[in-house]
Amino acid sequence: MGEILLQNTLTGRKEPFVPLHKGEVRIYTCGPTVYDFAHIGNFRTFVFQDVLRRFLRLEGYRLKQVMNLTDVDDRIIQNAAAAGIGIREYTEKYVQVFLEDTRTLNIEPPEHLVRATDHIDDMVRLIEQLSRKSLTYTSEGSIYYRIAKFPGYGKLSKIDLSGIQAGARVDVDRYEKADVRDFALWKAPKPGEHFWETPIGPGRPGWHIECSAMAMKYLGETLDIHTGGVDLTFPHHENEIAQSEAATGKPFVRCWLHAEHLLVEGEKMSKSLGNFYTLRDLYAKGHRPSAIRFLLSSVPYRRQLNFTMDGLQQAASSVERLRNFVVRLKTERFPAGKGEAMPARARQAEEAFQAGLEDDLNTAQALAAIFDLVRDVNTAIDRGEFRQGDVPAVLAAMEKFDTVFSLLTDDDAEKLRALGFEVAAAGPDDAEIEALVAERQAARKRRDYQSADRLRQQLADRCIILEDTRDGGVRWKRK
Ligand code: AMP
Ligand code: ZN
Repeated sequence: MGEILLQNTLTGRKEPFVPLHKGEVRIYTCGPTVYDFAHIGNFRTFVFQDVLRRFLRLEGYRLKQVMNLTDVDDRIIQNAAAAGIGIREYTEKYVQVFLEDTRTLNIEPPEHLVRATDHIDDMVRLIEQLSRKSLTYTSEGSIYYRIAKFPGYGKLSKIDLSGIQAGARVDVDRYEKADVRDFALWKAPKPGEHFWETPIGPGRPGWHIECSAMAMKYLGETLDIHTGGVDLTFPHHENEIAQSEAATGKPFVRCWLHAEHLLVEGEKMSKSLGNFYTLRDLYAKGHRPSAIRFLLSSVPYRRQLNFTMDGLQQAASSVERLRNFVVRLKTERFPAGKGEAMPARARQAEEAFQAGLEDDLNTAQALAAIFDLVRDVNTAIDRGEFRQGDVPAVLAAMEKFDTVFSLLTDDDAEKLRALGFEVAAAGPDDAEIEALVAERQAARKRRDYQSADRLRQQLADRCIILEDTRDGGVRWKRK
């Protein structure tokens, strides 16, 4: 394995990654707030985190990853109270949906998937620790963090807070705070809403303290990697640093990784624009989990991802291309013997694949290495230059690819049926094939052989074989 470089939000640089404990990487991942279905923007970030963990394992590391489920916050408490049920009962449905959704996308479960409501004691202890260090104050039954006492505040997000006057009394949170930047560690109960009776008084935890408490409980005071979407950098992660580092006096996280946002047709995804998709919305339109996973992982995480239906279609054909290639390798009979060139080509692709990922998880580069291999091997096969003994080396490269991208197992239909979706027969229907064949014939007629070849390849990727007849016509069949 080569050197791993990761772009660290904290330092603003690409740095060599070396974990604190030999052979083991400790990662904390901000999980979903379980009051609604997660959307594909959320899954962009979750898929990135999955690619990260699978890649680190490929590099030989053991993993210790914690993901929280935010199952207490103002919306959850209000919605549960309005529905007249407990917050556990209210969030359980969304927890189950989230777990099901992650399974359909082949997102591996972290070593610890933990609920905020199971860790109230840990949060209370951390708040007590901060209070002993005079970093907190109480106002109207709520406990706040006094940011003026933490000199490093702002170091992650580089947000200039000088315009916000320390000491100004601005009521933004319906609570009285000494400084507008200060944030609630513990919130006083409101009438009729859920609260916990604790040594620091009745109430409920703030969002930020939840992550600090759970991260340090399972991973120690200093973690290797902390991930999330860019929107969490400020204030959430900045506040996590302030809480954790003030309590322990040690660096909280060595490397911060933030995934850029997913946009829809060039615009920010939002319910009001009607461009808001859950996985199930896309499954209902006939899209497959593997196509979504491909699309979400294909753009490097530090770049915005513009989601389009067109892009999703292309992702589906890319997955099909890869799967058909593996089927071809496993089922076709090639001339006996083993060459030198093809196994060497496969090893080179593996190296390029890994080098792409080692460069701050450049998934586009890693994918390009694999698609180049697929193209070269297909060409060699068509020329009769590929031998039976070359198969294992190429399959090994594809398997390595799949330990990270997890796309090759053809189980989409099964997954969708398990969720209750009707699944159309795999592959294009006759009308669609006839249209592509006619398009290719037209291209040949005007001597546009490049387009004709592209169309033939496109059909081949979907397991449709063309046979040109002597009279200039064409027959097609399914493989
Ligand atoms: P939430 O459930 O809102 O706490 O979000 C769960 C995760 O999804 C967080 O890491 C967010 O930063 C991330 N996230 C939210 N919206 C988007 C988006 N449009 N694109 C990528 N990630 C997002
Ligand atoms: Zn968090």
